[in-house]
Amino acid sequence: MIEFLKEKQYIIQRVLRDETTGCWNWKQSTSRTSMGYGQAHMWGKTMNCHRLAYILWKGWPKEGNVVRHLCNNPKCCNPAHLEEGTQIDNILDCMMADRHTKGERNGRSKITERQAVEIAFKYYVEDKGMTEIGREYGLTRVAVRYIINGKHWSFATGIIPNENSSN
Ligand SMILES: [Zn+2]
Repeated sequence: MIEFLKEKQYIIQRVLRDETTGCWNWKQSTSRTSMGYGQAHMWGKTMNCHRLAYILWKGWPKEGNVVRHLCNNPKCCNPAHLEEGTQIDNILDCMMADRHTKGERNGRSKITERQAVEIAFKYYVEDKGMTEIGREYGLTRVAVRYIINGKHWSFATGIIPNENSSN
């Protein structure tokens, strides 16, 4: 079994442990487009640090699965606070939690954060098509697809864009 000692050290050196919550808060840059997740540089690519921490301590998530925060703190990389789940789990987390703070301030937004979450919910949970959803919200199919694959509004929907897909 690979121990990933060097890689684990990379994470440990870059977090600040919160004694109260137990969170390992990423000290360095967080992504503006990706819900404030810490950005780690490993194996020649940029990854969300919590996903990396999960891989190092708990193993690779199943294909298509995301790594969720049980503590609802996007900067946290404590493997004990991380759990594997589906995009649907993550969207449901976001519907429950009120961590929506950005986006609507941008006056050009055609939809609200709540609507972005609804759109993701309709697609993943209610199994509605992108065209149908787009019609409902006055959005193009592409705009709906960007929400569904986490390219837009990921901070609201909890959808984590696939790291392998090009931007
Ligand atoms: Zn935490």
